[in-house]
Amino acid sequence: MAKYWNPEAECMSREQMHSLQSERLCSKIKEVYDSVPYYREKMDQAGVKPEDIRSVDDLHLLPFTSKQDLREAYPYGLFARPNKDIVEIHATSGTTGKQIVAGYTKNDLAIWGEVMARTLTAAGGDENSVVQSSYGYGLFTGGLGAHYGAQTMGAMALPTSSGNTERQIRLMHDMGTTILCCTPSYALYIGETIRDMGLDINEFQLEAGVFGAEPWTVEMQHEIERLLNIRTVDVYGLTEIIGPGVAFSCDQECGIHINEDHFIPEIIDPETGEVLPDGTLGELVFTCVTKEGMPMMRYRTRDITSITHEACACGRTLARMKKIQGRSDDMMIIRGVNVFPSQVESALLDITDVAPHYMLIVDREGTRDTLEVQVEMTEQFFSDEVKQLEKLEKEIFEKLKSALGLATKIKLVEPKSISRSEGKAVRVIDKRKK
Ligand code: ADP
Ligand code: ZN
Repeated sequence: MAKYWNPEAECMSREQMHSLQSERLCSKIKEVYDSVPYYREKMDQAGVKPEDIRSVDDLHLLPFTSKQDLREAYPYGLFARPNKDIVEIHATSGTTGKQIVAGYTKNDLAIWGEVMARTLTAAGGDENSVVQSSYGYGLFTGGLGAHYGAQTMGAMALPTSSGNTERQIRLMHDMGTTILCCTPSYALYIGETIRDMGLDINEFQLEAGVFGAEPWTVEMQHEIERLLNIRTVDVYGLTEIIGPGVAFSCDQECGIHINEDHFIPEIIDPETGEVLPDGTLGELVFTCVTKEGMPMMRYRTRDITSITHEACACGRTLARMKKIQGRSDDMMIIRGVNVFPSQVESALLDITDVAPHYMLIVDREGTRDTLEVQVEMTEQFFSDEVKQLEKLEKEIFEKLKSALGLATKIKLVEPKSISRSEGKAVRVIDKRKK
């Protein structure tokens, strides 16, 4: 079993990476300045010329690009190649507003296949794998991203897309799927459905899962590993940069390796835009140095994490980012306290009698913000004659209070009463935003 898809790229020395990034950055900036009027104007306004960028150390001189820029330039304004060179279009899921489109050249699709092949190889995949892509196919990047990765690796792609869960499971069983790709919340749903269908997970060939496209905590990752009896890889990406495969986790559980020979990461202070040192939490920013169709310059992802450039025990030298804490848009401010759904998830999954299904309802009573945490009891706890609801509620209340520094309202709900997700789960309802 190969350990790396592309050891030269994944394990090069920091010096080599620095010179490769620098070389690619300088030529990409020049190209983009010449071919994209939108960038040229922004750079002119900021007083930066392509000649000012002499190495990756000069990256901070360039202006940022934001979701707003993409919306203003919609649909083709940030494309760097003529439409005759564009062979595929994708769009964001629109989780946080008007959708954004991205265009890919043939070479961009090859890069996408390459970075997803690295990801699937990190999950233990090779040409013998059967890779089931249960992310949605279509404009969403999930389905085809996993698909191209499987084909680049020479594996068999099983393009089931999302939905029709029982049929998915039968195919997974009959075709001998070895790697499942979907969102973590759908993986949870699939695992639960396998159980409900009365099937034994050990009769499947499943070895690994490549899950991502939404935030999930380490606790959730372990929960899914137990449920499906597999190892898992956290795959990160966004349409604007390429889709899934921007970064992937290894078997060391020590962060997510960024494919930084293609996408150069930075962490910035979201307020000031200042670049932050390794280990400091901030907003993740990417610069594409190989993409042709829509190469983003210093794109602000709004995702919150930190990065490190230390080598990893897995042998990869690619920079690592921590699991995404959440998007800055997901942060709830409750009575002045900042709360990310991931903090609630971590705390809840530490409690034995609750299932990994929850919903957060934010509201306002008078002038006071409230956070109600709805969480399912496990089947076992629910059927227990002597269940002690109050005691469990108190346990959750205390646990959340110490994790968030905030008093919440706990509502225990029956098993299966919180709706399941086949794609990106919606776990927060903010009634204040009505
Ligand atoms: P949208 O922004 O409309 O959801 P995308 O489908 O392009 O569009 O989603 C990209 C976003 O999904 C990322 O910016 C990030 O917030 C989230 N995301 C993707 N992969 C992960 C992951 N592994 N962990 C946490 N969040 C992720
Ligand atoms: Zn590693």
